[in-house]
Amino acid sequence: MTAEPRAEIHVHLEGTASPLLAREMAARHGVDISGLVRGQTYGWQGFGGFLAAYDLIAALFRSEEDYRRLALDYLTRLSSDGALYCEIFISPDHAREAGLSPEAYLSGIESGVAEAQERTGIACRLIVVGVRHLGPAAVEGAARFAARSGHGLVTGFGLAGDERAHRPRDFARAFDMAREAGLGLTAHAGEFAGASAVAETLDALKVSRLGHGVRAIEDPALVRRLAQEGVTLEVCPGSNLSLGVYPSLEAHPLRALHEAGVRLTVNSDDPPFFGTDLAREYALARKAGFTAPERLALTRNAIEAAFVDEETRRRLLERLMLRAISLGAPGTSD
Ligand SMILES: [Zn+2]
Repeated sequence: MTAEPRAEIHVHLEGTASPLLAREMAARHGVDISGLVRGQTYGWQGFGGFLAAYDLIAALFRSEEDYRRLALDYLTRLSSDGALYCEIFISPDHAREAGLSPEAYLSGIESGVAEAQERTGIACRLIVVGVRHLGPAAVEGAARFAARSGHGLVTGFGLAGDERAHRPRDFARAFDMAREAGLGLTAHAGEFAGASAVAETLDALKVSRLGHGVRAIEDPALVRRLAQEGVTLEVCPGSNLSLGVYPSLEAHPLRALHEAGVRLTVNSDDPPFFGTDLAREYALARKAGFTAPERLALTRNAIEAAFVDEETRRRLLERLMLRAISLGAPGTSD
């Protein structure tokens, strides 16, 4: 394998569905998605269009077996893109909408993950997310599910959905429950809302990572805080460009945050919806000025911030080092 070693800690399961797999599911359910598919990606316009497209594709996955296929399909592709490790956001609320119990949903995903690991060696953990715009009670329900899942693969809890709905502190109870259950914590913040939302999320939810977090750049004191506290940002440059959070890669703060000492990772978020994949995200980092050793550090940051036990982390870091060495002269070429 010649791909640089990669890792991803911010991707939404339903958002990984390839048009190929989605077409197969659509045909089975008699749904027409031909208006959405553009080759290997989906076409949509504006944030509302993206959400509608996402919901339509997500609704095609309805059974335990569908979710096994979805997880297996994505992790297999990701591994062939050079990834050693992946954390996937899963949403029991989405499963319910598709008419599936959260338990069956998780069981299907778990089978897909196990099969992918066996076939390719990729390691994977799951982060249960609450959907913010469904309100604090729904998010607490998701936290409760995550806390009692008792599944070794569920190691984190997070907050996704529309960042403009509710205040971070409204979700403090959900995060307290997840923390008490020993889960790692992350929350989407600083994508559609500005720097103050990032600060408030850190204060109220005490997360070790932030989904996106890029708009922290609007407050230099907050950027210093992120660097000092070692908060890891799950940056998704392709997603940000696609949704118009920034008009161009030149305007994107990836490089500036790195230079300010903030711990960064790059991630694909909802890859076929944004015409991206993990390899492209690393390519965007390269275009933004990240050298080969700096890109390797992005992968190391992801593993260091991963919601895994310390023995797994040690093994992943070892694999990363071996892969870097096998590429030859690690960190010296670009
Ligand atoms: Zn996301």
